[in-house]
Amino acid sequence: MSTEAAQTTRRRRDAATLDQLDPLARHREAFVPAPGVLAYLDGNSLGRPLRATAHRLQEFIAGEWGTELIRSWDERWFDLPLALGDRLGRIVLGAATGQTVVADSTTVLLYKLVRAAVDRPSAEHGTRTEIVIDDGNFPTDRFVIEGIAAERGLQVRWISADPVTGVSTDQLAAAVGDRTALVVLSQVDYRSGALLDVEAVTELVHAAGALVLWDLCHSAGVLPIHLDAWGVDLAVGCSYKYLGGGPGAPAFAYVAAGLQEELLQPIQGWMGAQDVFAMADVYRPATGMRRFLSGTPPIVGMLPLEDSLTVIESAGVQAIREKSELLTAFVVDWCDEHLDASGVTLLTPRDPARRGGHVTLGHAEFEAVTADLWSQGVIPDFRRPNGLRIGLSPLSSGFVDLEAGLEAVAEALARATARQP
Ligand SMILES: *Cc1c(COP(=O)(O)O)cnc(C)c1O
Repeated sequence: MSTEAAQTTRRRRDAATLDQLDPLARHREAFVPAPGVLAYLDGNSLGRPLRATAHRLQEFIAGEWGTELIRSWDERWFDLPLALGDRLGRIVLGAATGQTVVADSTTVLLYKLVRAAVDRPSAEHGTRTEIVIDDGNFPTDRFVIEGIAAERGLQVRWISADPVTGVSTDQLAAAVGDRTALVVLSQVDYRSGALLDVEAVTELVHAAGALVLWDLCHSAGVLPIHLDAWGVDLAVGCSYKYLGGGPGAPAFAYVAAGLQEELLQPIQGWMGAQDVFAMADVYRPATGMRRFLSGTPPIVGMLPLEDSLTVIESAGVQAIREKSELLTAFVVDWCDEHLDASGVTLLTPRDPARRGGHVTLGHAEFEAVTADLWSQGVIPDFRRPNGLRIGLSPLSSGFVDLEAGLEAVAEALARATARQP
């Protein structure tokens, strides 16, 4: 056997061994099969559906909706945003009951919470006029903050973060002070995967007398999160990435119990009012998390998340994180061994403790490579200008498939570079 063939055999064996030793391997069967998909490397953008959800949706049509009809609002739907929020809080967010709600989209919840935070009565009005955010944050976060700053006459203080390692503690310490109203950060950077120390940053922001809002879109469901223990004020996140809630599934918001009564969100709707069916003349906000709701909750969109949380709970977030670290380390090691010579760079922190659940690789040809890969059923995603993002959802990913996907990346890259003059 040639050395190269021997190496390939060893690698395949390593990946197969990792699959055999994987305590979460059994959960892969729970997902709907995807014929023709060799490797799904985008579970961080859109999680895969569960078989159980197909059944749940059918039952829902026949039962809760089809037969119970409007009675289901009284029996279950009316409180579902709060009940599902509590369950999400317990299983994924480290949040005691009464602090999490499922509603709207991340963008809309971000708007509501940021507005509520900068307008809060105790915010020493007139002096705390800055919102701190990094320029590498997700577009929606930056856009919402800029819009609110314009609307409320506030300033945005931009942190220019390192594209690979993310915002540093020193940068934050320099940006946050007695003018800061609110700091908005992502726990895991959507491009690089850089992971921030939520507890340490929250403490730093509190020491300056400001509030902090964490965007958990790229961390909920893949990393241990302890919002209560970390003293977090506010958080938002989507449920369709690692949480597997399905395309356009509603988002979640967390508001620490001690803050709820002083925060008023701007989209005053009947579903967030004190007595929803009083059809009152004036808006009085409900007490507790209900006040962060606005209109009729998207019940159909919440159903897949119910199943997904069951699987996440049975696997355990800690075990999910352990597998996630093995998966991302597998990618990093594989690339060091096979792609280094092709000029591929690692755009994600090397230290597993400093990264979340995805790995981004850099190469000028990756846009063309991604299109080639998609046509073969190998599905990573591309982030401008040159990033191939490999997102590994631990519950639905295996090492042998991952390796096949990485081999396809290497081959597609070789084809793309061979086409170059
Ligand atoms: C995916 C993502 C969003 C998405 O916002 P939507 O309103 O759900 O479209 C927001 N912020 C971050 C950091 C994300 O990764």
